[in-house]
Amino acid sequence: MTKRRRISITGRVQGVGFRPAVYRIARSLSLCGVVYNDTKGVTIELQGGDEAIAEFLVRLRSDRDKPPLARIESCRAIDIPAVETDDRFTIAASDPQGAPLSQVTADIATCRDCLAEMADREDFRYGYPFINCTNCGPRYSIVKTIPYDRPNTTMSVFEMCDKCAAQYRDVGDRRFHAQPVACAACGPRIELTDTKGQTIADQGEQVIAEAARLLRAGKIVAIKGVGGFHLAADAFNREAVERLRQRKKRDHKPFAMMAASVEAIEEHAIVSELAERLLRSPESPIVLLPKKQDSPVSPSVAEGVDTYAFMLCYAPLHYLLFEQCPRVLVMTSGNVSDEPLICGNEPALERLACVADAFLMHDREIHRQVDDSILHFIGEQPAFLRRARGYVPTPILMEKACRDDIFAAGADLKNTFCLAKQNQLICSEHIGDLEDAEVYHHYIGSIEHLRRLFEVEPKVVVCDLHPAYLSVRYALSVPDARVVQVQHHWAHIASVLVENGIDGQVIGLAADGTGYGTDGAIWGCECMIASLERFERFGHLSYYSVPGADKASKQAIRPILSLLKEAYGSEFTLQKFDWLLKPIEPDVGRVHTISEQLEKGVNCIETSSLGRVFDAVAAMLGLGNYNHFDAQLPMALEAAAAAGIEDRYDIEMISPPGQPCRVSLGQTIRQLVDDVQNEVDAGIISAKFHNTVSEILLGFALFCRSSTDLNKVALSGGVFCNRYLTNRLIKQLKQNDFSVLFNRIVPSNDGGISVGQAAIATRLVAAENKR
Ligand SMILES: [Zn+2]
Ligand SMILES: [Zn+2]
Repeated sequence: MTKRRRISITGRVQGVGFRPAVYRIARSLSLCGVVYNDTKGVTIELQGGDEAIAEFLVRLRSDRDKPPLARIESCRAIDIPAVETDDRFTIAASDPQGAPLSQVTADIATCRDCLAEMADREDFRYGYPFINCTNCGPRYSIVKTIPYDRPNTTMSVFEMCDKCAAQYRDVGDRRFHAQPVACAACGPRIELTDTKGQTIADQGEQVIAEAARLLRAGKIVAIKGVGGFHLAADAFNREAVERLRQRKKRDHKPFAMMAASVEAIEEHAIVSELAERLLRSPESPIVLLPKKQDSPVSPSVAEGVDTYAFMLCYAPLHYLLFEQCPRVLVMTSGNVSDEPLICGNEPALERLACVADAFLMHDREIHRQVDDSILHFIGEQPAFLRRARGYVPTPILMEKACRDDIFAAGADLKNTFCLAKQNQLICSEHIGDLEDAEVYHHYIGSIEHLRRLFEVEPKVVVCDLHPAYLSVRYALSVPDARVVQVQHHWAHIASVLVENGIDGQVIGLAADGTGYGTDGAIWGCECMIASLERFERFGHLSYYSVPGADKASKQAIRPILSLLKEAYGSEFTLQKFDWLLKPIEPDVGRVHTISEQLEKGVNCIETSSLGRVFDAVAAMLGLGNYNHFDAQLPMALEAAAAAGIEDRYDIEMISPPGQPCRVSLGQTIRQLVDDVQNEVDAGIISAKFHNTVSEILLGFALFCRSSTDLNKVALSGGVFCNRYLTNRLIKQLKQNDFSVLFNRIVPSNDGGISVGQAAIATRLVAAENKR
């Protein structure tokens, strides 16, 4: 008997070749009907026999028929009346009820089929560095505007040859409607130039061979990839790596590396099964992996940390290059210091000529610069440090749709911004630190681009409380929009709530460097009772006063003096602690000035920052005295922590009636200083300090549960990028029967703030509309 069923599918089903796959299965089973994208995913209407429809549903999920990138999250089928039909099955552009929201998908690493073709001498794309198909290749980085069709991408300047065009039009082909489809006859080409842009080689094989030769000879080559330029150098060549560091003006921050296989990575780092899966995933991120001893990787690649940052080749060009170049390349972002990633050929020649010795470029324009994503593991699951290529613009779906469009400005450091439209939160790629003028300029341009791409007209704008934040100033300047300001750490906790679909209240533990508080102090170690609708500060680290607002987060001597004064009170004199302070800040005059500033309260801020305490402890252990990049000292402290230590320092908690409870670090600091004086091993002191911080946070959670009955704990904030601390805290919370929530989709650092802001604003809008 003929039936008609309507099947609604959600998951990753748009922009991944899902509709052609549906078409092929339906035709092979002689089913008629239609398939189209809608606002939630894909809808299929099938008409035919019961058995054929049942088989269709089985095959749609089978590895043989399902497109490799597709992920079906839910599949609901209902019977609808059969219609008169001409026995055809059609692919409709989109839901007649309204356009789908997310037409643009993320950039995806080269698939296995394409790699096989690229290696096949018989294939017409043999050795072609831009091979791609529906299952792989650039997307987000080449889209100029919607709808996502070739004329609206940077591929529009390349006219398809007959062979490519035939595949593009054939619904049975792997390249059906693959917008960037190309071959050597019709598509983009590579070229190797010197620093003046003069051609060294322009024939495919020659270009690769010459670039590889330069890398083997210790030269630095700027390589244009998917989302921007990389600066590449032989990771085993100490001199080359140090030259790159010097020229790029990047003194200390670890470099990322690339290899062609997991086996090549395993020679230098420990690759767990989970890490291997992540490295090989279509998103192909950088993954932080524990270092192996005695690796020939040059020490200057990653000093002061216990991990290497590795990724696998993800563009065809990488694979071709790695057939001939050193087994491991440093592949760091193509920019100087903290400026935005460079993606254009001209700007690259202009800005990177002082860094690179040669340029491996191509004529496929990158419209959106997208950095590599970085992940590590927390609680044996992947967690983001930076979310960009491969993941953006995949939306985070909310249960309820929001009536008004929302723009969330994010934080000023590690900025991302977020757009909310209907039930989707679209978080931008990592933008950077807005204090850099070029990054700020890039921020403004990015907001406009994404707003157009997703057709968002924000009625509500949400931002931080910090009066000096550039993102706040920008938000306040948006015309015709209502502005909502959200406390920094509440936004952190909200990002965990929306990711996990949590509706009610939780115990929020936020551990962070800097976040403006509702009382004007800088918060940073917070326990709050929070939901997406409201928050209440339950407890925090006792305030200490830090002199020199901006310098305080760089120079460790500043929080050290403050914490010592708090801990020792009138017993503290500079003379008495000369033995401790001298190695950290040899300039006695400067120490005096800061100390005086502190005494008189000149340009001092009250803070409960946990990040600054990590800075202070790292410096007291001789691990450095300055953060050349964000969290350098805390990372060194984490890397130093000895395993298997259960001891900790004492803490004091006070709970004044009617006020948040407070934890004082006085005892901790005094005991820690004693350990330093008694020359206890730095690894043991570091572990004891980490254990103490974990105990503080656990203590907050226990106390909060005893007064509220809440049992869910949400963790967020930059300090939770510390694996030692976070893994220990999660374990301790679970041992105490808490259920623990953590960021999995956005970073727990300030890169996740915008998503939390947007989630809070959607609730606010919903509540107002109800009234
Ligand atoms: Zn492919
Ligand atoms: Zn072609």
